[in-house]
Amino acid sequence: MSHDPIADSVLAFLRERDPEAGAILAAESERQATTLELIASENHASPAVMHAMGTCFTNKYAEGYPGARYYGGCVHNDSAEDLARSRARQLFGCQFANVQPHSGAQANGSVFLAMLKPGDTFASLVLADGGHLSHGLKVNLSGKWFNPVHYPLHYDPGHPDFERIDYDAVEEVCRTHKPKLLMCGYSAYPRVIDFARFREIADNCGAVLMADIAHIAGLVAAGVHPSPFPHCDIVTTTTHKTLRGPRGGLIMTNDAELAKKIDRAVFPGMQGGPLMHVIFSKAVAFGEALKPEFRAYQEQVVRNAKALAAALARRGYRMTSGGTDNHVMLVDLRTRDAELTGADAEQWLERAGIITNKNGVPQDPRPPKVTSGLRLGTPAVTTRGLKEGDMETVAGFIDRVLGAKGDDGVCGAVREEVRGVCGRFPLL
Ligand SMILES: *Cc1c(COP(=O)(O)O)cnc(C)c1O
Repeated sequence: MSHDPIADSVLAFLRERDPEAGAILAAESERQATTLELIASENHASPAVMHAMGTCFTNKYAEGYPGARYYGGCVHNDSAEDLARSRARQLFGCQFANVQPHSGAQANGSVFLAMLKPGDTFASLVLADGGHLSHGLKVNLSGKWFNPVHYPLHYDPGHPDFERIDYDAVEEVCRTHKPKLLMCGYSAYPRVIDFARFREIADNCGAVLMADIAHIAGLVAAGVHPSPFPHCDIVTTTTHKTLRGPRGGLIMTNDAELAKKIDRAVFPGMQGGPLMHVIFSKAVAFGEALKPEFRAYQEQVVRNAKALAAALARRGYRMTSGGTDNHVMLVDLRTRDAELTGADAEQWLERAGIITNKNGVPQDPRPPKVTSGLRLGTPAVTTRGLKEGDMETVAGFIDRVLGAKGDDGVCGAVREEVRGVCGRFPLL
């Protein structure tokens, strides 16, 4: 038996009928229970959210939208989707929500389909500076079928806004290229986004303003990061990162005309049948996020991130932009050891039971498969119950492993201590 009652209940069915699949689930559940998850885009969903996914809603075809489906038997599916939509609207304070996107990338693809024609120009952050592949990577649909132009961060170390968004440059890029769509919201940006400033810039160049809050959605919902509403025309997000829901996407707007276009783009434009079991689970997750405890959780996520950044800084690591305002930090490893790479750090830490991802730092001279940085986030360890004081312990683990250059003995010793911490902060 694992430490995970949900895996255990599934294993009760699989042990005899499909031991091969059962063994894989048991191993993954054990891995999650006994490692410290510091990947900024991951979290541990609640038992209610996970149980809700494993229900008979997976059996149902419900193409279309509540009240206008292409299949019979949708009455309770309509209730589930209506509940998810109304809770999403309440949570983010907006008029329209589409809860059907299968993922964040599908949500963004649907917005492109709704708003742009092939070859149209849109603007987003230089991808290597913290953007997402669905914001114009050359090999992604967004970069192949549309024309992305990118705005930079401040790259001058002497500038007070070093490694923060260069809003004057955003303005300049938009003046030059007249994008139809201006995107903000990122995958590795540790600072507050000034949505009001983006609104001004979008108005000056006539662009539709879209915020992709995939990373900060939980913070936004809890009021711990400023809301993209009313400034942004369209807001997309994932539901499984800081928001702590099932894996999926969500698109919101306050504009009835845009909402119609978006609904048509998601279905039938981009997707077929909605994942009703996931939509049902989204409703449960949004219900959790509307509770007062959720705000306390998000506040703790941010306090933990600041504490972890400070504890690492005391050990000689530089945080890009000098720290963090949210749940994520980008650690420039070179200040601790010029030879240290993100790829090595990720591998060594995994051996010690600390799960992270390598990530380029702004203007990183190393290629994306090597990198000079490590992206760390606190949503998942905060879900476990770790507090600021525990961040000192975690930073100590990280520094011992990296200081010893992944030495087997040190990784093994830290691995045992990590197991101990995980035992004191069980998942469910
Ligand atoms: C994670 C992320 C996405 C994509 O989410 P998937 O569910 O993996 O498709 C989109 N945008 C941003 C900014 C992200 O960080």
